[in-house]
Amino acid sequence: MYQVAKTLYFNYGHRLLGGHDKCSHLHGHSAKVRIVLRARKLDRQGMVVDFFDIKNTIGNWIERELDHKMILNARDPLVKLLQKAGEPVVTVQGNPTAERLAEWIFKESRRMKLPVVEVSLWESEDSMAVYTANLKSRERNEP
Ligand SMILES: [Zn+2]
Repeated sequence: MYQVAKTLYFNYGHRLLGGHDKCSHLHGHSAKVRIVLRARKLDRQGMVVDFFDIKNTIGNWIERELDHKMILNARDPLVKLLQKAGEPVVTVQGNPTAERLAEWIFKESRRMKLPVVEVSLWESEDSMAVYTANLKSRERNEP
């Protein structure tokens, strides 16, 4: 089994609803994302996926959709207010936690047909969330 990882960076703002003290106020993070891809066989170039292609697909998506955006819970009353003020707001179902952002990037990578198995997202140097594929059920489906 071959595995590669690409690390990407982006900045975002958010807040969490529901009494998370400091996190309930608008604030920002410089996020580090590590995307792990896996393949049983290498392609004709001898790669799992060309690092350049990872940057050009999910890397561009992150830059376009998440970088320097205010990522808020769809139920957050600030959504309308900030949109009205012309701020770039992106919404998610539920709180925009590191866990949910890792899951979102994972699913978007899969949608782009990247063989991703794990996405880690550091919202700070010492706090990281991981979303992984359910490898057992995936392996069962393989011929
Ligand atoms: Zn935060």
